[in-house]
Amino acid sequence: MIGIISKSGREDVDEAVRTGKEAYEGWRLTPAPRRGEILFRAAELLIRNKETLGRLETREMGKVLSEGLGDVQEAIDMGYYMGGEGRRLSGETVPSELPNKDMKSIRVPIGVFCLITPWNFPIAIPSWKIFPALVCGNTVVFKPSSETSVSAAKFVEILVEAGLPKGVLNLVHGPGGEVGEYLATHPGVDAVSFTGSTDIGRRLEGICCSMHRPIVTEMGGKNVILVMDDAYLDLAIEGAVWGGFGTTGQRCTAASRIGVHKKIYDAFAEKFRATASRLRLGDGVRKETDVGPVVNESQFNKVLNYIDIGKKEGAKLILGGKAYREGDCAKGYFIEPTIFSEVHPEMRIAQEEIFGPVVSLIRVEDFEEAIRIANGTPYGLSASIYTGDVNATAIAERDLDFGIVYINAPTIGAEIQLPFGGIKYSGYGKKEAGGRGGALDTYSRWKVVYRDFSGRLQRAQIDK
Ligand code: NAP
Repeated sequence: MIGIISKSGREDVDEAVRTGKEAYEGWRLTPAPRRGEILFRAAELLIRNKETLGRLETREMGKVLSEGLGDVQEAIDMGYYMGGEGRRLSGETVPSELPNKDMKSIRVPIGVFCLITPWNFPIAIPSWKIFPALVCGNTVVFKPSSETSVSAAKFVEILVEAGLPKGVLNLVHGPGGEVGEYLATHPGVDAVSFTGSTDIGRRLEGICCSMHRPIVTEMGGKNVILVMDDAYLDLAIEGAVWGGFGTTGQRCTAASRIGVHKKIYDAFAEKFRATASRLRLGDGVRKETDVGPVVNESQFNKVLNYIDIGKKEGAKLILGGKAYREGDCAKGYFIEPTIFSEVHPEMRIAQEEIFGPVVSLIRVEDFEEAIRIANGTPYGLSASIYTGDVNATAIAERDLDFGIVYINAPTIGAEIQLPFGGIKYSGYGKKEAGGRGGALDTYSRWKVVYRDFSGRLQRAQIDK
């Protein structure tokens, strides 16, 4: 057993929102540097508990231990980064056209934030939302995925231990369709930040927009790696294996499509297949394990169903393609790393998010077609290109229709100090992570202040 969590009812959500509202006045008036200091302490506590939390994640949702530790590290990074924002949170002062008048923009908090998170980054994603929300002076009601409730609860305990006043951060648990939606639409909530599937995110966008409630959504992806004929092949293979099968393909930025230039396609496909075939599946706590299980039965069935779809669509299966049941793995939801070759860009396996260890190889004619294929899905989260041609990297950077572009690196590996998020059906609204232009804009709003100290009426645009 990993832990026991009590399911919240509507009355618990009501209480959490009410408590968040009551705590808001005190918290918004707490100097931002003091709020930041609590985040620094939280980051220090996370360092002390890193190993325990990393292991807990592995046990709770299956990612391998090194990735569980990486997940906690991301929260540590975010804690320090946002803690520092407590002493910045800067606006602008600009000169007035009139004498004896000054003007500035200041950041102010929004109120009670509803934060809803998925299971694949059980501590990192909550930290992306909770830390900036708090440093900006908001209070929070947090609804994590039911799959990773225990990791979420431990993370919240750390924030409480770091000194958060009562009522500033409130945690509710329970199925998204009941507890999550009730919370996101609760009259006492002022804004919503959601990370999860595109279906649910778009549903919440519709509801929140009709309520005139700010919402940010980070959703699914159909990310792509492009490998050109002048790429350094071994580097591209390594990136494709990590991008496609890291976290068992359960990253919003996982590389589930690889477009390869026709001149190197066969060599790439064979080497990629051979390298991926050496990945070792197993319990993520073991050092030798490369790939853990998928998170649950429904995800297991969904991924196997997509493998069937790929076969029926006529793609060529060159690796894997079924559940893996050797040794201890017989008890878990393991799926062999799976590669389809000769995938047409319009096939469902090349268009829809699978969220598992399944990669589609697409043969591309040239650079122009590669960019066209990359952009040809409803998603726009993360894209990457491997090439030795510096001019091609500049064009790719300009023309790839994605929120994040990597050059000579796979589609995963974002760092917290820049905004993170997708376009098209991958994201809506402002961005997570980063400072200005990212999380600070999501979790605060601008107020503009004009102060006239002339002692008389001065009229902008009229008085000269
Ligand atoms: P999900 O099923 O959409 O669930 C996400 C969260 O929403 C969970 O906490 C879930 O609660 C809750 N939820 C479900 N239905 C809801 C509703 N009607 N109203 C309010 N909340 C609701 O997604 P998931 O399976 O956890 O995560 C995988 C998805 O997340 C993938 O599509 C992946 O691409 C995406 N993702 C995106 C990013 C990004 O930054 N773009 C990052 C990570 C993951 P319960 O689980 O408790 O039901």
